[in-house]
Amino acid sequence: MSLQYYERLSNKNKAYLWHPFTQMKDYNRSDPLIIERAEGVRLFDVQGNAYFDGFSSVWLNVHGHNIPELNKAITDQLGQLAHSTLLGMANVPAIELAEKLIQLAPSGLNKVFYSDSGATGVEIAIKMAFQYWHNQGCHQKKSFITMNQAYHGDTIGAVSVGAIPLYHDVFRPMLFPSHTIPYPYAYRHKDGAAGAKEATLTALRTLLETRSEEVAALIVEPIVQGASGIIVMPPGCLREMALLCRQYDVLFIADEVATGFGRTGAMFACDLEGVSPDLMVIGKGLTGGYLPVAATLATDEIYDAFYADYEEQKTFFHGHSFTGNPLGCAVAIASLKLFEERNLLTTVRTNASFVERKLHMLTERPHVGEIRQKGLMIGIELVRDKASREPYDWADRIGVRVTMRARELGLLTRPLGNVVVFIPPLASTSDELDAMLDILADSIIDVT
Ligand code: PLP
Repeated sequence: MSLQYYERLSNKNKAYLWHPFTQMKDYNRSDPLIIERAEGVRLFDVQGNAYFDGFSSVWLNVHGHNIPELNKAITDQLGQLAHSTLLGMANVPAIELAEKLIQLAPSGLNKVFYSDSGATGVEIAIKMAFQYWHNQGCHQKKSFITMNQAYHGDTIGAVSVGAIPLYHDVFRPMLFPSHTIPYPYAYRHKDGAAGAKEATLTALRTLLETRSEEVAALIVEPIVQGASGIIVMPPGCLREMALLCRQYDVLFIADEVATGFGRTGAMFACDLEGVSPDLMVIGKGLTGGYLPVAATLATDEIYDAFYADYEEQKTFFHGHSFTGNPLGCAVAIASLKLFEERNLLTTVRTNASFVERKLHMLTERPHVGEIRQKGLMIGIELVRDKASREPYDWADRIGVRVTMRARELGLLTRPLGNVVVFIPPLASTSDELDAMLDILADSIIDVT
């Protein structure tokens, strides 16, 4: 591609696009990366440069890119039906996918409500939880419990149960209040994993003992808190939180948007601790990263609280234009078929062990504070001082600098503050992972 072509696109990009989670003043000073096509675990820019997709294009593309079976599922469906609504009617892929999801989901989840992004799926879970209690006359049960540094998406309801000050504080005046309990961040707790877990459970127990009659639900990113820096819960914590909610009659919402579909080594992170939530939100990897489909799964108990004569006014008045889109559902079915045919969960576990061994080479590096991993969700926390665990300053932009270096060397990822994220396609081969990790390690070594 000619330089003029790139420059023309670059100028139009800067003139017309406003990018998400991006300070445009910084962005417009840079040479933008403009992706044109993709193949397997690689993305190619308009100038023909190849990059490994080291973050599965924001944690979505579990099989990689341009997968013939997934492409075919979309084109086949396109010849049948591109869109029809779920308002009062159904379509074939939406029905077939719902059945499949119920078979795969933790036990007790028997109903599927579709939407089109993780945030809208969370929004639905929050509204369902609220109205579940309302429909039964428990009008006082209307607040939510969330965890410190939680991220559940960017719509107003999702931001209301979010707790990352940088993203959420500016909107606080327009949000509904939520109770926040500490997330068990073992590396930053003075008593490590045991102390962090105890602090979380004590805070939850105390809150439930005193306020459970006003709380509708607890919402949690199960096992791994993603956007806060890939922070892994100590074993048993999720299960005990779920048990406490049950004991105090508070709904348990699992936000599996990031952790679902094999990312942690199980189909859903809740499976790792045998947890059956009341509501579960899925998105991202659901369509193999191909099309925007999300879903909120609910138990019969929740569904039944809405099931009444119309005049009783218990209907769930919520929906989106693209709810249950047939193209999206068709590719999701094809993606789940690939999970089975290729035994992808076994591959994830093999790949995770490979990555864990290989990352050992970084443990002694002077600025590598902690390497956190669950399945193929990896976060490397960089610190200014390893002994004291003193963090880098925000202004050091250490994560950004490492990932920019990685980009120069041919690997794409996005940092979370001082945490370098590695979330490769689940289906990567060991050779591909090897090459990606070499670049990641070189980038950290070059910058720190
Ligand atoms: N929930 C979790 C745990 C997430 O990590 C994300 C996105 O990263 C979301 C919800 C929001 O999903 P979406 O970006 O599809 O709205």
